[in-house]
Amino acid sequence: MNVMIYLTIAPMINDCPNCGNSLVGNGEGTLKIDDDIVERTCKCGFDFTYDVTKGTSKKQIKEAIKEALDSL
Ligand SMILES: [Zn+2]
Repeated sequence: MNVMIYLTIAPMINDCPNCGNSLVGNGEGTLKIDDDIVERTCKCGFDFTYDVTKGTSKKQIKEAIKEALDSL
């Protein structure tokens, strides 16, 4: 993944948008970065997967995060 794209998304998912937990690993949550996919999960149940080929504007990413929150 292009680092500029990652830097757009990272601040929005570093802290879990649902509970604010910033930890990953040790059962707290996960963060996976692939070529096109960002995946962030949290022990609270938050589960966000985003394909950056769909677009990387902040608005689009915020929408996708909102959808993940709505589906909790
Ligand atoms: Zn959480």
